[in-house]
Amino acid sequence: MDSSQPALLLPPCRAHKFGGSSLADAERIRHVAGLLLADDAPRQLAVSSAMHGTTNALVALADAATAGGEWRNALDALRQRHRDTARALLEHPDAMLSQVDALCGELAELLQATSLLRQPGRTALERIHGMGEVLSTALLHAHLVERGGDYALLDAREVLVVRHTDLGAVVDWEQSARNLVDWRARHPQTRANITGFVARDEHGLPTTLGRNGSDYSAAIFASLFEADELHIWSDVDGVLSADPRVVPEAVPLAAMSYREACELAYFGAKVIHPQTMTPAIARGLP
Ligand code: ADP
Ligand code: ASP
Ligand code: MG
Repeated sequence: MDSSQPALLLPPCRAHKFGGSSLADAERIRHVAGLLLADDAPRQLAVSSAMHGTTNALVALADAATAGGEWRNALDALRQRHRDTARALLEHPDAMLSQVDALCGELAELLQATSLLRQPGRTALERIHGMGEVLSTALLHAHLVERGGDYALLDAREVLVVRHTDLGAVVDWEQSARNLVDWRARHPQTRANITGFVARDEHGLPTTLGRNGSDYSAAIFASLFEADELHIWSDVDGVLSADPRVVPEAVPLAAMSYREACELAYFGAKVIHPQTMTPAIARGLP
């Protein structure tokens, strides 16, 4: 992110991020698609989390396989939930149903290997944990395209390169920007559906940004695409004066500084992932 480079004249771009509760079922996904299609920004990014509860389910599946326990029924339930969503959401669900089956087949192989090894490698675990975003983003994408949206599907594992450090996942901005140039050359669409949470590491292996990391994904991609705004949609009416699950009388805050948002996230308010603010501050992204 070299601020001495002259800015390219790109059409305005708005980035949106949707959390798991916003993508909990076909009805919620349809609502999200409506919001995205109603947004008239010339360029648009939509970064998606996994469907509500999916990442927890994937973590539990990996844990069960590692312990040599039963995992096939839970995987079937996960597959069925995504198949049901595809059927309820899409006019022509067949391709999506095949894709759900293929991805769940890949999961079954990873889980089978894990249950044999009993000590899965990090890559296997991260591939399992990140599958929810691959599924949810594909569903939203297929629906938006059916409704006539000019969207490309961006699997963040193709573009975003991170290195894991004691301070969390650190972005390799130069490599990621180069990967994005390649990706854009192949995808002329004005809008992109992007998988949150997942990335690749410096060895090219699939990884994740850590739990709750889709907010961070959204800020990173907003920066890479040189977006002008980032909107993080969730199940609350904004950032509140406290966690409403703990303090029911908490009220929405009209505005807050980057610094206040950093402090809030750093001290554990789940509403924003702590690393989200760094790319936003670097770009002055509202
Ligand atoms: P998403 O799936 O959209 O990322 P999260 O569950 O990760 O949603 O984050 C939203 C939750 O963060 C809210 O439901 C709320 O319980 C919690 N939260 C914690 N602190 C705050 C705060 N200060 N303002 C709003 N929500 C907060
Ligand atoms: N789905 C991932 C998680 O549950 C990432 C996210 O939702 O931000 O941690
Ligand atoms: Mg979150």
